Amino acid sequence: MNVVLPKLTQKLCYDMALWMISLDILIGLLFPFMMRWLGLPASEVYAPRFMLACLAAGLIVAVANFLVARWVVAPRLRRLSSQARNVEAAIRQATDTNNWQHCTPEKCQLTIDSADEIGETGRSFNDLVDALLLSHAVEAAVNEFAHHLTGKLDLEPMSEEALDRLIEHTKADAGAVIVEEAGTLRVTAQRGIHGLTDPSNSEPIRHCLMSNQQLTLSLPKNITIDAVLTRFQPRQLVLIPLAFKGVPLGLFLLARAQEFNQHAHRMMTLFQQSFALALNNAQAHHQLQHLAVIDPLTGLYNRRFGITRLNEEFQRAARTETPLSLLMLDIDYFKRINDEHGHLVGDRVLVEVSQRFRQLMREDDIVVRYGGEEFLMLLPGATTDNARVLAERICRTIDKHIIETAHLRLRVTISIGLACFPEQEVNSPENLIAQADDALYQAKQTGRNCVCSAK
Ligand code: GH3
Ligand code: MG
Ligand code: MG
Repeated sequence: MNVVLPKLTQKLCYDMALWMISLDILIGLLFPFMMRWLGLPASEVYAPRFMLACLAAGLIVAVANFLVARWVVAPRLRRLSSQARNVEAAIRQATDTNNWQHCTPEKCQLTIDSADEIGETGRSFNDLVDALLLSHAVEAAVNEFAHHLTGKLDLEPMSEEALDRLIEHTKADAGAVIVEEAGTLRVTAQRGIHGLTDPSNSEPIRHCLMSNQQLTLSLPKNITIDAVLTRFQPRQLVLIPLAFKGVPLGLFLLARAQEFNQHAHRMMTLFQQSFALALNNAQAHHQLQHLAVIDPLTGLYNRRFGITRLNEEFQRAARTETPLSLLMLDIDYFKRINDEHGHLVGDRVLVEVSQRFRQLMREDDIVVRYGGEEFLMLLPGATTDNARVLAERICRTIDKHIIETAHLRLRVTISIGLACFPEQEVNSPENLIAQADDALYQAKQTGRNCVCSAK
């Protein structure tokens, strides 16, 4: 039964006093009639002295009751409120100084020592403080995550940093970051996941990217996942898409041997936005860097980058006393192609010739579009003989290759000048270029479609 007496004043103890005094006075007043009912003579029980004595006794009991109740309840309530005030002061100080290390359970929690309404109030207060601290911890983690990522512009380190933090805050056992680049998917970071060589083949990954929707796969114990292999048997796999202004950029996936809890899911959603923003920045930076060094028509390195690399390679070759060969390649009668078939066909020739060059190069070699239809090839470690073999193969390949357009079948040839350090006694990269240029001139003089070495 939940009886609630009406509120008489603004103070609990005044209400308690009023109710107790009224009740006890009433009992004092009724007491003579009860005595009469029990058979005591009317002359005695209705005597004013007896009635006054009953009333006084009621009043004394009321005051005594009130004082006892007050001494029992008030100190506990006072303790609760003073503790709550201390907790509030500790939280306020932590907020002001941004130092939450001192907000320990002893300082930021009430000690509960009663199993009644007061204890319940204390517990509710502690729950409230817990919720507040958790919300602060989440906010701090999200801010720290965003802060760390925005400083990182290189894709791999940024992805690794993000993945480590995601794993830490979601208590995942494994994870990976997959980024979309020029229509293909690439794993830029992974922890505890192996065999994810071709993410484009995974149906859940494709679905998550295309729908831009989070995907949670709960896996029965006896099922292994295609294309996503962990060193343990995951029970749950979550895929979170990363998109910026509606454009899909990639996704991250997290796996766990048990199911993720609600907090983990919330952290994933909270990290998603700053991760997508950081990924967009890193990709934009990467594209800018790419634009700064790549020739847009042929996709080869541009002249500025080529010269920088030649300087570096020349210094390295001089320091390590290893050879460095340089080829200068020029398309024969290219002006005629432009004049006879137009600039677009000329461009097409440049693109196809560049593709053939790339196919013929080793990994360490560097191909540069040096000018209009002139190219440089830097061949670190190659002697004149090595370089000549490659140069002649290039000449033959280009000569045999047929460039097909809608109305034309074209063949072009190229001439190549070769210079090699230290076989050519040059003391600077500029000299090496000049020697290769002279050799190219010789090749043009000799009748084109051939290779000449510097003298
Ligand atoms: P040679 O055999 O002596 O090298 O003769 P060539 O006609 O190839 O040499 P020349 O230097 O006279 O002509 C180069 C031409 O390349 C002139 C220029 O219009 C053209 N060219 C330069 N850049 C581009 C380009 O980006 N696209 C196209 N289509 N043509 C270009
Ligand atoms: Mg030419
Ligand atoms: Mg030329």
